[in-house]
Amino acid sequence: MCEHCAGAAMGRRAFIRAGLGLTAAALVAGTDFARAAGGPTTDLTPDQALEKLKAGNARYVAAPEVCSLELGKRRSAVAQSQAPWATIISCADSRVPPELVFGGLNVGELFVVRNAGNLVDVGAMGTIEYGAAVLGSPLIVVLGHERCGAVAAACDAVTKGATYPGSIWPMISPIIPIAKSVQAAGGDFVDNTIIASAKATAARLTRDSEIVAGKVKDGKIRIVAARYDLDDGRVTFF
Ligand SMILES: [Zn+2]
Repeated sequence: MCEHCAGAAMGRRAFIRAGLGLTAAALVAGTDFARAAGGPTTDLTPDQALEKLKAGNARYVAAPEVCSLELGKRRSAVAQSQAPWATIISCADSRVPPELVFGGLNVGELFVVRNAGNLVDVGAMGTIEYGAAVLGSPLIVVLGHERCGAVAAACDAVTKGATYPGSIWPMISPIIPIAKSVQAAGGDFVDNTIIASAKATAARLTRDSEIVAGKVKDGKIRIVAARYDLDDGRVTFF
């Protein structure tokens, strides 16, 4: 049963209550991109957002479902503004759609960055900063996943000297030093790299972004690395 059918929509209802919380415009007064946000931001705390993701993933593991009735209603409700309560940096892998693996979430709930290997380049970083500073998303999750092809490709570059054409090589290259750092650890090389890469990316967000670092320092944002299991659907948070 999905969150809405289960009647556990307290947090969702909070999104559409008018007049609560800081508006995006207040956060970035005078800037053009504030207009894209419009309404109030979520009033979930970082910890509440994380608990909501955990509960959603438990629903997905137990009984995956998408509520189509609620989808129609929500489309109208968020047409003019959005207040996502979590930012997810996920792989482009077709088997890891964040809205589904976190329990059949609706339009307007997650702010999502996706690319092969769930990496953070300048476009991803700008997107994350926008989610943090303008949309007021209180949680950032770097979501790696089991048997990630991008990570496996980087591991093959380390162990077999594999190379890749076009932009694939520079895209996966940030994973290579991570793979080398765990190569001697034993166990599953690819899986160890998947986890280490997600953790390294999560750590890098505060190092490379003053916007994100400031929000974390103020307790407005929490950053978590995670791994999605393709076999059983579980997300493990680190
Ligand atoms: Zn992947």
